[in-house]
Amino acid sequence: MPARGEPSVAASGEWVDDTGVRMPAGEVHAWWPGTNQTLCGLALSRSQLRRFHHVSWPETFPESGGAAEEVRQVCRRCQGATGRSSRGWSRGWTRTSPRP
Ligand SMILES: [Zn+2]
Repeated sequence: MPARGEPSVAASGEWVDDTGVRMPAGEVHAWWPGTNQTLCGLALSRSQLRRFHHVSWPETFPESGGAAEEVRQVCRRCQGATGRSSRGWSRGWTRTSPRP
């Protein structure tokens, strides 16, 4: 595995932004492009997760703004695997669907 800064994203859903770029939605996991499973060990095909190689993992965090708009849940195991579970996550944000 080449040393890279951040993994990319795999998500249960997607939306398209104003510029036509696919963005992750729903439940998101960390994923290394070139592999067929998430960092927490889910098989992409079996879990029907979509790949977003153009979206880096930290962009799905609420504090980043960017790609987090439609993200409902960030996988805690992937957070742990990437060591990214600190700031901004102590407010119970990971509860499922905070709004209807
Ligand atoms: Zn995961």
